Amino acid sequence: MILVLACDRATPGNRVSVDAEGRPVVHYRFTDAVARSLARGTRASARIFFGAGALRVHAPLARPPEFHATEWERIDDRIRAEHFLPGTIPVSAAHLMGGCGMGGSAADSVTDAWGRVHGLPWLRVADSSLFPDALQINPYLTVMALADRAAQAIRQDAGALLDGSGAA
Ligand SMILES: Cc1cc2nc3c(=O)[nH]c(=O)nc-3n(C[C@H](O)[C@H](O)[C@H](O)COP(=O)(O)OP(=O)(O)OC[C@H]3O[C@@H](n4cnc5c(N)ncnc54)[C@H](O)[C@@H]3O)c2cc1C
Repeated sequence: MILVLACDRATPGNRVSVDAEGRPVVHYRFTDAVARSLARGTRASARIFFGAGALRVHAPLARPPEFHATEWERIDDRIRAEHFLPGTIPVSAAHLMGGCGMGGSAADSVTDAWGRVHGLPWLRVADSSLFPDALQINPYLTVMALADRAAQAIRQDAGALLDGSGAA
């Protein structure tokens, strides 16, 4: 199996809201750009498999999805972004990012550059939700670096927070 990772970008409609019971609600729509990049990745994967000697390939974005080596020249017109109909093809997300993005002020973000929530200095964010947009690479190291940065700010602000005078 080849895992095709598509990079989405932050779009205003894709967000987390909170319902009347205080539960988080995820609003997410795939963009045409994501569907196109999934199709491109699937075509490349089919070529890699046939190049490696595969006799059959299962390509979720092909119609029908089963592909024989004798048909490899038809990869481009069989594997298409239009076949990406949400709910019909299994898609998962292991690199969840954003939702409490860092930025300059409450006008454009949720936290400052240290994970302090604007207007609530005692409330901190220290995980991948700090990303203002998709990282386009595996996020783990950056998440750990941001968590360390948030910890530095907590240590720095501790005195002010504890004596109630607020963060630096
Ligand atoms: C299958 C898979 C493969 C991956 N492979 C890679 C890779 O190869 N390279 C890479 O860079 N990244 C990879 N990632 C992504 C990476 O693991 C995540 O981006 C990273 O772990 C996110 O860190 P986080 O601190 O934001 O959240 P998490 O690591 O998810 O940490 C959140 C923690 O909060 C805990 N928690 C949740 N709710 C509560 C609660 N109410 N009270 C208390 N604790 C709570 C959870 O148990 C968890 O321990 C992969 C992820 C998955 C799922």
